[in-house]
Amino acid sequence: MAWARVAVERAIDRHPDGLTYAIPKDLEHLDAGDRVVVPLGGRGGRAEGWIVQVESSTDLPPDRVRSVLSHDPSVPRLPGQLLALARWIGEYYAAPVGVTLAAMVPGAVKRRVGARRRIFVDVPTADAAGRADGAAEDAPLTPRQRRIIARLAARPESERPVAIEELMAEAGVRTRGPIERLAAAGRLVLEKRDAVSARWRTVRVDDRVPAALSEEQAAAVNAIAATLGTGFQRHLLHGVTGSGKTEVYLRLVEQVVAAGGTAMVLVPEIALTPQTTARLLGRFPGERVAILHSGLTAAQRHQQWLAAASGEASIVLGARSAVFAPVPDGHLGLVVVDEEHDSSFKQDRAPRYHGRDVAIRRAQMAGCPIVLGSATPSMESWAAATLRGTMHLHRLRKRVPGMALPVVRVVDFAAERKQRPDRPNRLIGPTLETALRRTIDAGGQAIILLNRRGYASWIACPDLRCGWVMSCTDCDVSVVYHRDRSLPAGGFVRCHHCGAEQRMPAACPDCGKRLVRFGLGTQRVEEELAATIPALVPGETLLRIDSDTMRHAGDLHSALERFGDGRVKVLTGTQMIAKGLDFPNVRLVGVVNADTSIHMPDFRAAERTFQLVSQVAGRCGRATGPDGSGTVVVQSFHPETPAIRLAARHEFDAFAAGELDDRRRTGLPPFRRLVRVILRDQDPDRVAEAARRTAAGLRQLAAAGVEISQPAPCPIARVAGRFRWDLVLTADGPVPLQATLAAARNAGILTPGEAMAIDVDPTSMG
Ligand code: ADP
Ligand code: ZN
Ligand code: ZN
Repeated sequence: MAWARVAVERAIDRHPDGLTYAIPKDLEHLDAGDRVVVPLGGRGGRAEGWIVQVESSTDLPPDRVRSVLSHDPSVPRLPGQLLALARWIGEYYAAPVGVTLAAMVPGAVKRRVGARRRIFVDVPTADAAGRADGAAEDAPLTPRQRRIIARLAARPESERPVAIEELMAEAGVRTRGPIERLAAAGRLVLEKRDAVSARWRTVRVDDRVPAALSEEQAAAVNAIAATLGTGFQRHLLHGVTGSGKTEVYLRLVEQVVAAGGTAMVLVPEIALTPQTTARLLGRFPGERVAILHSGLTAAQRHQQWLAAASGEASIVLGARSAVFAPVPDGHLGLVVVDEEHDSSFKQDRAPRYHGRDVAIRRAQMAGCPIVLGSATPSMESWAAATLRGTMHLHRLRKRVPGMALPVVRVVDFAAERKQRPDRPNRLIGPTLETALRRTIDAGGQAIILLNRRGYASWIACPDLRCGWVMSCTDCDVSVVYHRDRSLPAGGFVRCHHCGAEQRMPAACPDCGKRLVRFGLGTQRVEEELAATIPALVPGETLLRIDSDTMRHAGDLHSALERFGDGRVKVLTGTQMIAKGLDFPNVRLVGVVNADTSIHMPDFRAAERTFQLVSQVAGRCGRATGPDGSGTVVVQSFHPETPAIRLAARHEFDAFAAGELDDRRRTGLPPFRRLVRVILRDQDPDRVAEAARRTAAGLRQLAAAGVEISQPAPCPIARVAGRFRWDLVLTADGPVPLQATLAAARNAGILTPGEAMAIDVDPTSMG
């Protein structure tokens, strides 16, 4: 007889090792990692879950143990390392293991979305055609068949093979018959494949290979490659933007793949994937690349996941959750985390893991090296490499040969405004405007960044004695005005915290005065650019890129394609355009307001500001040649802020030194570790009471060295109708914090769920 520990996909936190069930005779083959259905609760209740362990004995009385009901063989068994990773995340991030496993495996896999394979049609290869010649020659073709062949032949090679349904529609045939007969005669080739790999083939492939590595690149490749196959090692690749970090990753991936291993490459969110994807696919044309990110359809995700699970994929590329790709145990030879500092690696709902830190853990479990790369490393990684020596540091100080770092001009926006008192509300000052005109006249392209969506960030009564400001009915934040000319009112207001929308009021509800809208937003930048420069036509030569306009991954692909081929002159948008893009003709980057993140109630505000300015400046001057260098204009009301001043001079080391000094002095990460506990309730008194009770409970059992703050309302005191309080646990290292978390979970003091969120190593304190 055998027993299975099953983690059910519900937020049950009392049984971190799973619930015990008997394995019936007919399911003897079950093992850890299998997906099963088990009875749960009374009245025939059941739940899906994962076997986390199989045991040969149990302490429970046999009559109290129920049996596993069924097994779902269509979901592959999870590799042991993934289960171990789930257990680690469950403990470290204080999340129920069932919730963790639920987050690891895409819903599409569990629901088997689009499991069907489809038929694709291609022209025969040269020698296949030769062989089939004799048979095919004399069979006369019908007009319909000729049309089918002509249609297929007219497609560029990159758009073949084509799904049979698509070819039928193009050639105007209603059944598969004519195509199948052509295939039988050797005039066409049919192949069964999943829809995903065919789809990715239509992505533009970038197969350029630099003639030679720079000295610095070669040194980094050699040093890191020497650790391949020798176990777990941490590497930090600090390279200025345009120094060719991606090329270093590609060379390392090449070596891993050649040795028969699998490489995992994580990138921050979809903004990076089109170009990185194109480069990976271009470099490894014969390899199977599994691509996992939120922009895929459910069916695509399912298929990509299976490609990783089967071991077919030698490269796994994706955003945060791709760290959970089910690469079989023993295959992983290298993990790369590009732009490791990026805050999108941190998940903001349970399990609140950090993709970079989980990747480090995964590499450790797999016994392979990990490379973290960035132009602006996180303070955590920088401290590990330069103070603690737990990471090897590799540096690329120069851009690739022929490419120069752009000249960055920080302009004092208050002074610029004084220069043009006739235009007090302009977002684009004279310096940026002049540079933009010059760039466009000279045939160059530009990127204009403003890290705030919408049209205006405030709607308020102009009468100071009244002081009414429009805020969300469910959150303690002001709402953002979005222009939409298709609406009778010309726009609407939206809360960027809960998404709730309201109608724009006709007048101040308190005193009846006409309301004013002020503050910044990408829509206003777009409008002002179009009004100022006639060559910029929204939707044609000017594109706005933010999460309002880019709702699907395809939108971003096509926008970047239109920018890449020069149809679009100027991209404007939020940080989506700040990262990773590599377009040689970008000669100007403008930052409309570098101050958007300085005043955030967050100890990482300076770090974020430095990163944003450096990263967006790095999009510029990527062409080689005499006029390839670029200009960056950064507008700021606080031009002397160290984060802005040092980013403009590309002085990461100086910035990091000052920032680390501050963090050491104030007892913040990376010198201390934090755990933030957030309590939420619709009732303001109840949440305050729960926060005090939790703090008192934690004080009772806190391990030595753990400090517990006074509970207090969060900076954003109410979101989506629920009041929020928090308290913070601090210690010199993770060990006492982990001990405290474990004890508090056992004692029922910490109960992660709707009313309580536990955020280990928080990246946002709002
Ligand atoms: P980073 O990721 O550091 O910003 P990229 O890897 O995107 O830099 O490289 C910038 C550009 O330089 C890319 O177009 C890349 O193809 C090119 N490149 C990389 N290495 C070299 C090299 N050794 N010689 C010439 N060009 C290179
Ligand atoms: Zn809201
Ligand atoms: Zn008023």
